[in-house]
Amino acid sequence: MTEDKEASALQRAAKLLLEGAIMLRESCPQCISPLYQKKDGTLYCTSCDRRVVREGEIQRPEKAKSSASPIQAKIDKLAAELEDTTDPEKIVKISETIRSLEKIRDS
Ligand SMILES: [Zn+2]
Repeated sequence: MTEDKEASALQRAAKLLLEGAIMLRESCPQCISPLYQKKDGTLYCTSCDRRVVREGEIQRPEKAKSSASPIQAKIDKLAAELEDTTDPEKIVKISETIRSLEKIRDS
């Protein structure tokens, strides 16, 4: 039954929209159904139930982050550590380290 399939495609679409995805004018190269763009920028076809990669952006190098300063990388790492930490002393220490790193970064 194709009806079931369509229903689940609709459900997937509804779920995506709830998650903040938007429907695009572009259509799926496989099935011509409209594509949805998720919040993280990935394209999704609800009919094929798979991610769709736009031609020409198959492997967009994600250099934006790694090309940021090494100090920023440290800050990010510490911030992640801070989130996991419950030890008050450690929290203070990490926060102070982040603050001084931010000063260096912004100077
Ligand atoms: Zn499709």
